[in-house]
Amino acid sequence: MNKSAANSEIWLWHKCLGHSSFGYLKKLMPKLFVQLLDTEFKCDVCELAKSHRVPFQNNMNKSPAPFTIVHSDVWGPTNTCSLNGKRWFISFIDNHTRMTWICLMKCKSEVSSLFKQFHNMVATQYSSAIQVLRSDNGGEFVKQELKQYLINHGIVHQTTCPYTPQQNGVAERKNRQLLEVVRASLFEAHMSTKYWGEAITAATYLINRIPSSTLGFQTPLSVLHKAICSPTVSHLQLRVFGCTAFVHLHKPLRNKLDPRALKCIFVGYAQHQKGYRCYHPPTQKLYVTLDVVFYENRMYYSAPESSSQEHNKDNWQTCYDDLYVTRDKHSSNTSSHSMQDGNSEEYIEAEPQQTTGSEENRIEVLQQQTQVP
Ligand SMILES: [Zn+2]
Repeated sequence: MNKSAANSEIWLWHKCLGHSSFGYLKKLMPKLFVQLLDTEFKCDVCELAKSHRVPFQNNMNKSPAPFTIVHSDVWGPTNTCSLNGKRWFISFIDNHTRMTWICLMKCKSEVSSLFKQFHNMVATQYSSAIQVLRSDNGGEFVKQELKQYLINHGIVHQTTCPYTPQQNGVAERKNRQLLEVVRASLFEAHMSTKYWGEAITAATYLINRIPSSTLGFQTPLSVLHKAICSPTVSHLQLRVFGCTAFVHLHKPLRNKLDPRALKCIFVGYAQHQKGYRCYHPPTQKLYVTLDVVFYENRMYYSAPESSSQEHNKDNWQTCYDDLYVTRDKHSSNTSSHSMQDGNSEEYIEAEPQQTTGSEENRIEVLQQQTQVP
């Protein structure tokens, strides 16, 4: 591969993988860096998205089996509601595999019921019992209802000491990583913060499927599948978040003279179907489909005029301040914020069709190229 082709390929990977560092990409794909130095790559979007780094101690002690210890953290509220009216999220991270699950929430009082759902999911899908739940001592985690549930199910609840969130470091680091990917994805695609819910769901899909240095460059999903016989999950070719996606309209959705495709934004991967999530802003409709053509070098939203030549760092940071990890927000009062009705969004499950199979699956390529000495 010549130098310029390698350069383009590296940039495409950088964007598909949620702006992963170039040093990390070099470890994954050494062949692409034969004629190029990873230190020569500079990305403005990464500078903007990752400039607020606070060091976290990395405690490498890992539990011996999946779901022995589950870390959890609540984050929010955002100033802007997501497309479906959510302003919070809760994350559950398995200590052994670093597999991450997130749920968006309208308010943090949903923590108790979401933990119960997660606990049941682990029991049914993975035949495993959660032994320890580790969280900070935020009010939503120490409510009597959740306390009693944990006692009834023999789950030990370990909470952090006041003002020492680093004791819940695994969850803190994971949230920071997710939010960095969210900011980078939104900056890159010139998308407003109302897409934060889509972006963080896509980021979670991504980080469960890309090799992690904590796991010796295996993916969280592969470590989980090696440890526990569990249902297979679909792998879709990774795409650049926010790019233009032309969704094919099947016959029932159009008249004879209507266009055959609809110009949408690619906003992630479906959770329970093998399909891409594509959003059509003019009609506020979401399509889940495999029958889609991506223009990965063309974002749906073009750059705002003021920043078309050069990013205005202050403006961008003001816009996206919402999406930095802050502890203060965690304890603020939800009732003082009015909730938008999230039901205006209409979901359409476009009938999934088989792809031709001629395209190489990018995730498979990634796994083949992952040969770290
Ligand atoms: Zn970048």
